[in-house]
Amino acid sequence: MSHLNLSKKLAVVTGATRGIGYAIASRLLEEGAHVIGTGTRPEGSIPTGCEFRCVDFSDLDHASIFAKELSEIEPDILINNAGINKIDSFEKINPEDFDFIQRINVRAPFLLCRSVLPGMKRKKWGRIVTISSIFGHISKEFRASYSASKFAVDGMTAALSAEVAGDGILANCVAPGFINTELTRSILGKEGIADLVSRIPAGRLGKAEEVAALVAWLVGPENTYISGQNIIIDGGFSRV
Ligand code: NAP
Repeated sequence: MSHLNLSKKLAVVTGATRGIGYAIASRLLEEGAHVIGTGTRPEGSIPTGCEFRCVDFSDLDHASIFAKELSEIEPDILINNAGINKIDSFEKINPEDFDFIQRINVRAPFLLCRSVLPGMKRKKWGRIVTISSIFGHISKEFRASYSASKFAVDGMTAALSAEVAGDGILANCVAPGFINTELTRSILGKEGIADLVSRIPAGRLGKAEEVAALVAWLVGPENTYISGQNIIIDGGFSRV
């Protein structure tokens, strides 16, 4: 049910074809925003009513062309959600894979944030949310590339907030725990998920819609003072 009234807002959600990004795009549409969602496949399945752009953030040219478009259309809301994970023991991490993950998880949010700032400054209003992870607060074995990327967006967001909060632009990260999406299912498998659920105080995986509700609140009119944060949503997992 709509209560945030984002009807005059233009929002961009990266990685809107599946999982958390799909849920965020759907929620922002429900709240009345005009939403542009990205995916990597031309036939990308995004929520009905969402405008689609095919962008592969591992491709530097693709990413720059999309960033240029954003600087021209001046979105009010930017959600940097697209992200990937690849687990490997530290000594086996291939430097190309490390770079690949940073290009999608860090470089793309950097480029897009930079491209939307002039428009947001001109309007004296903007909301940026980058989807981090609990592995951007804590970490565990085999997550070096992923954690490097998620700690990086936290630091980037803190610095960005310091520069632009005075211009009416609030920038935050949202750090989900274990959310029931393709990414989680493929990385953990059924047994891994069962073991994990027994260690989550809430007793279940999170839902993409629960992350979307937090993001929608952060970019909506009720958030006027939260900026520079990396807010955990994990059913209590990281506190036990
Ligand atoms: P997902 O289901 O795997 O969906 C990933 C999205 O990112 C898809 O829309 C995908 O587009 C897009 N994407 C993948 N590679 C891309 C590339 N090279 N260029 C542009 N877009 C690309 O992932 P998710 O679980 O919803 O995760 C979304 C975000 O939340 C990520 O940043 C992830 O790190 C973070 N997160 C997730 C969890 C979790 O438990 N699921 C926990 C913490 C943080 P295509 O469909 O075209 O491939």
